[in-house]
Amino acid sequence: MIRTGIGYDSHRLVEGRELILGGIVIPFDRGLEGHSDADVLCHSIIDSVLGALGEGDIGMHFPDTEARWKDASSIDLLKKVIEMARERGYEVSWVDASIIAEAPKLGPHLEAMKKEIAGSGVKQDRINLKATTNEGMGFTGRGEGIAVIAVSTLTGTGS
Ligand code: MG
Repeated sequence: MIRTGIGYDSHRLVEGRELILGGIVIPFDRGLEGHSDADVLCHSIIDSVLGALGEGDIGMHFPDTEARWKDASSIDLLKKVIEMARERGYEVSWVDASIIAEAPKLGPHLEAMKKEIAGSGVKQDRINLKATTNEGMGFTGRGEGIAVIAVSTLTGTGS
């Protein structure tokens, strides 16, 4: 069985928060606002895996109305979702994601992000990360926030 899922997420950039992407802290003057660590890359990947599993979305599994997910590590949430896939007889065989951010420059951090994401159970050589700007257009272009589109492929026997 081969299944694919898409994920999309965006968060607002605000002052007074650390910028966490792919489980690592990236030096910047602002960070992403959110109930958890607001790791928009992990959230998007989580949604893509849940999509492939036919399991709805991140908000259904880790609702922001529940105190236990406040400041939760999104890498840990990704780990839980990958375990969920394994229980259903699937491995995450490929992840591709595009991070849309005007600043900071993310290229130099992509390998470190991949390494960190690999700790959640996807092999490092099965992850492709890309960073792009939005050419100054829209909310990402104005630097108001960061968005991520992710696609995951799951392979396995299914259950
Ligand atoms: Mg989110």
